[in-house]
Amino acid sequence: SLHGATGHLLFDNVTFGYGNGRTILPEFTLDISDGQTVAVVGTTGAGKSTLAKLVSRFYDPSSGRVTLDGVDLRDLAPEDLRRAIVMVTQEAYLFSGTVADNIALGKPDATMEEIVAAAKAVGAHTFIEQLPDGYATDVNKRGGRVSAGQRQLVSFARAFLADPAVLILDEATASLDIPSERMIQDALQTLLADRTAIIIAHRLSTVEIADRVIVMEHGRVIEDGTPEQL
Ligand code: ATP
Ligand code: MG
Repeated sequence: SLHGATGHLLFDNVTFGYGNGRTILPEFTLDISDGQTVAVVGTTGAGKSTLAKLVSRFYDPSSGRVTLDGVDLRDLAPEDLRRAIVMVTQEAYLFSGTVADNIALGKPDATMEEIVAAAKAVGAHTFIEQLPDGYATDVNKRGGRVSAGQRQLVSFARAFLADPAVLILDEATASLDIPSERMIQDALQTLLADRTAIIIAHRLSTVEIADRVIVMEHGRVIEDGTPEQL
C-alpha cells in the first residue's frame, strides 16, 4: 500500500497519443521530487492537461511509465491511487448536495469537525457560515448561490481533507475579482504545503508560488527552472 506515500512522481520516458495516430507526448521525462510544487505553463494544445490525465490514470502511457515512489501507477490498487493522488479540475465542480457533503467527498468518513477544519484551513469557513443554511446549504438550490471563487475554495477544502501525497490542479481560466483571487492564492499556499503538486497554471501569481516552472510546447519541456529564472 502507498499510504504514507512521500510523493516522488516520475514520468519515465512516456509516449502518449489519444489513439488517432498523433503523438501528444513523445518520450516525455519529468522527475518531480517529494513535496515539490511544479507549475506547468505553455501554449494551448501543448499537452499540459494530458499530463494531468496520465497522473490521474484517465489514460495510461502507450509506452514508458508514470511512477509514484518508484511504483508504476498501473500497479497500484484503485483505492490506493485515489488516496495518493487527487486532481482538482478547472471547473471546480460541486455535486448536488450540501456544502458539507461536497467537502466530505475528500474523505467519506469525515466528521463534521474535520469538514469545518478543512474549510477553515483554506479560508472557506467564513463565506460558508454566511450561506442561508451554512454547511447544510444545498449548493444547487436557489439562495445557495456560490460564486466561481467560492466553488474553488470548496473544492480546495475537499482536497485538503483528502490530504493526498500528490495534488494535481488544472487551474481555472475564468477570471476572478481581486479579493477572490487573493483568497484563492492564500488557500493554494495552504493546500500545497507538505505535498507534491503539479499545477497547470494560468495565473502569474500561481507561477510565483511554485518551486519550479516548466514550459511545454508540442509535448516537450522547452524550459525548466525556478520562477525567478524564467
Ligand atoms: P490548454 O492550454 O488549451 O488547456 P493543453 O496544454 O492542456 O491545452 P491538452 O488538453 O493536453 O493541451 O491537449 C494536447 C493535445 O491533445 C491537443 O492537440 C488536443 O487537441 C489533443 N487532445 C486532447 N484531448 C484529446 C482527446 N480526448 N482526444 C483526442 N485528442 C485530444
Ligand atoms: Mg488544458
